[in-house]
Parts: sequence; C-alpha cells; structure tokens
Amino acid sequence: MRARPIILVLLLLVGVVAGVSYSPWSPWLTPMQRLARATPRSPYRVMVVGIDGASFRVIDPLLKEGRLPNFARLIERGTRTPLRSENPMASPVLWTSIATGQARKDHGIEGFVVYKDPRKPKRGTLVGSEDRKTLAIWNIASAFGRRVGFLGWWASWPAEPVNGWIVSDRLTSDRWNVWAGGHKTTGRTYPDALAAELAPLLVDPMAPPMEEILRMVALTSDEQTEMRLAERPVFGHGFSVVKFAYCSQRSHEKMALHLLAKGQPDLTGIFLVANDPVSHTFWHYYEPAAYQGVDPQAAVRLGALVPHMYEHNDAFLGELLRRVDERTVVLVVSDHGFEASGQLPALKPAEKMFTGPEAEAAHLRGEIAVGQSGKHHIEGVLIAAGGPIRRGASLEAGLLDIAPTVLAIMGLPVPRDMEGRVLEEMLDPGFLAAYPVNRIDSYEPLIDRKAILEAARAAGEASDEEKQEMLRSLGYIQ
Ligand SMILES: [Zn+2]
Repeated sequence: MRARPIILVLLLLVGVVAGVSYSPWSPWLTPMQRLARATPRSPYRVMVVGIDGASFRVIDPLLKEGRLPNFARLIERGTRTPLRSENPMASPVLWTSIATGQARKDHGIEGFVVYKDPRKPKRGTLVGSEDRKTLAIWNIASAFGRRVGFLGWWASWPAEPVNGWIVSDRLTSDRWNVWAGGHKTTGRTYPDALAAELAPLLVDPMAPPMEEILRMVALTSDEQTEMRLAERPVFGHGFSVVKFAYCSQRSHEKMALHLLAKGQPDLTGIFLVANDPVSHTFWHYYEPAAYQGVDPQAAVRLGALVPHMYEHNDAFLGELLRRVDERTVVLVVSDHGFEASGQLPALKPAEKMFTGPEAEAAHLRGEIAVGQSGKHHIEGVLIAAGGPIRRGASLEAGLLDIAPTVLAIMGLPVPRDMEGRVLEEMLDPGFLAAYPVNRIDSYEPLIDRKAILEAARAAGEASDEEKQEMLRSLGYIQ
C-alpha cells in the first residue's frame, strides 16, 4: 500500500520526461529539431517542374490552338506570370537561384564551370553541389523531416543526403557532362544505390529512340544519320545537342515516374532540359521571318520541332499531374525564355566537327550547320496551381521568389537571408491567415551543410558490394 505514492510519483516523472522530450522545449533537442517541432504542418505538398528555357512566346500561341491541354488546365485553375530572370543567363546559376532564393554572388554558382586547380588555371570543372555556398530547399525541407525528391537539377552532384532521394545531373550523358568531362561513377544519386536501380531506365544517346524523335520532327534520312551517328554533342550543332539532351530528358522522365510510383515526396523537383537546346538550334525554322534566307520548306518541316517539344513537355506534365495527390501545389517554372538571335547557324566542314566512325558516313563529308539561332530572353514562366494558389492572381515574380514561396506553402519558416519574397498575391488569404509566413534570420547556423557535403562525399565511396551490384545492373559484369 505504501508503495503506491512512489509508483504514482515515478509515473508522473516518466510522463514529464516523455512530455518534455517530445516538446519543442526539450533540452535534448538541437535548435533545428526544436524549430521543426514548433512548426505546424501545412497540409500542402509542392512539386516544382522545371522546364529549361520555357517561354510564353511559344506557349501562348499553342494554348490558343488548344495544343497544350495540361498547361491550360493548370492556368485555368491557378495563376500564370512571366518569371523575371537575371543577366547573364547561364542555366546552372539560375536554377541554383530558384533552389536557394539567393542571387549568384551569395549562392556561389556563377557559371557553367569553376577553375579550381591552380596548376591548370584554364582547366574548368563543371559546377556541382560543393560549389554552392548556401542551403537549397531540399536541405531545408529535409531538416523539417519532410520527404524530398529532386531529379536532374543543375549543379546537384555529388547528390547531398536528404530525407528522400536526389538524382543528380550526372547520371545521364547530358551535353554538359560530355563537354566538361563531368560524367561520374559515384555520388550520382542519393542514396548511392539508387543509381543501380535507375540504370535500366537510362536512354543511351548512341541508341536514340529515333521513332519518338521522328514523331516530333520529320528528318530526312541524311539528317537522321547525322543525328544517330553523332558520338558527342557538338556545340551549336542541332542534331547532336538535341539528341543528347532528349535522351537525357527521357531518362529523367522515366526515372521520375518510377520514383513517384514508390510514393510522392512532400517536396518534389523535376528538371526537364531538352527545350533549351531545341530552342537554341531550331529557332530560325520556328520564326524564319526574324532571319534572312531561311528555306521556307525547311522552316515548315524543321520549325515544327519547337512547338512539338512543348507538346512533349505538356504530355509529360500530364503524366506527373496524374501521379500527385489533391493536396499538391504544382509550380511550372523556367529559368529564362527564348527569342530569335537573328543569326543563322554557319556551315562548317563536317570533318572538322566530327572524328571517328561518325565522320565516315558519306553525307558527313560535306557541311553541317553550327550556331545558335535562338538566344535566352529575360522572361521565363511561372504557372502555379493547386492548394492555396488563387485563380487568376496578377503579380510580378522573379527567380529568387520561388524558394521562399515554396517554404511558405509548406508552412516552413522563411529565412530573411533569402533575397526573394513570398509571392503572397497568389496565395489564398484564408491560407495565409491559418499559416502566417514565419520568419527566421537564417537556416545557415541551424543546418550543418559541411556535414552534409562530407556525407555526400563519403556516400560516393560506396562499398565494393554496392559497386558490384551497380556494375551488374549496368550489364558490365555477370
Ligand atoms: Zn540555353
């Protein structure tokens, strides 16, 4: 009988200890964990679909013709506005600004390559996650215990450990990987073993899906040969750069559907690259009036590739929309738009551009067209729909506003060191009343990015067993 009060006191103590350790004020928590526990969960998930170089200059006429039903559906349900880019418009810089909410001087990615080796001052390496000086939204959402999944994002190699998955931009044979020698065998995904799981979904540029490409553009048999045989992407040469980019994008599309089938992350980012090289190298056929001397018949035939690429992206967007739940806010964004450069590609001797078996093809003894007839335009696109996104809101937006807006939609505090703003004009006032935008100074002291990068490096050094498995799945060993 006398033991009872002791048991009660013990029970009470256990209760208090348990209560304290699960509360945001628990002394055993890190400041980040404390913040995570004190932050109420918004009911919404976010999917960012990045389309390199998407432009309303192409989208609007196609919308009028009813050729982009999934873009149309999102716009009808939500908001659209030009997304202001920043000069100079280099994609790795801009996509990193989208993911960090910070300008290039702060996030540290200032171009396509960095020059790190003082002994070889002219030898650049392709930018990667270690060159980024600040946190990205995948780091922040992970720290709150939200599931994240990012695929193909610029400068995301080595893949950083996250609460979910990252497929870096070095898993496929992208144009830039080939040019800058950036193809990697480790750190390409997080978790590292994911690379082996996704390997069967890689679309090989040396065995391109020509029937798919021919559905988008009616190439002559010589043009098909020129595309099929190109062993590397020649800068400004449409048939080769488009082939490499299309195969890279198709790989990423298949991987995205595979990964989404296993569960939708709370924050997803899918990057689609092929529109950029298509617009750079086929724009003179798409808008022949902006140039002197484009063959009208070639313009009709080859000019179809630009709108067909948009239709392709619209159809894939439809696939994604079918796989997200009703609590998902979808943001379609581009890093810049496109316009005519006024400069036609120049004809260059094929043997100077190609070497090896590809140059032996009879037609390649002649000339090939090399040059960028389409150039970046300062206005990209933002299309947003779902959850608290208002219908038909009017607003001005820039690249740096995407990251803080994503955090606000997920109910996560927005740091003052993000230079963009939350696009409150496109959010429902009821949502903003229920989840007022919380501010903190910075996540930098709360999240140990150095440890994340060290772990990314360590994950790259996979065990022998994992490497064997990877090689097996690539078909290199039995
Ligand atoms: Zn470009």
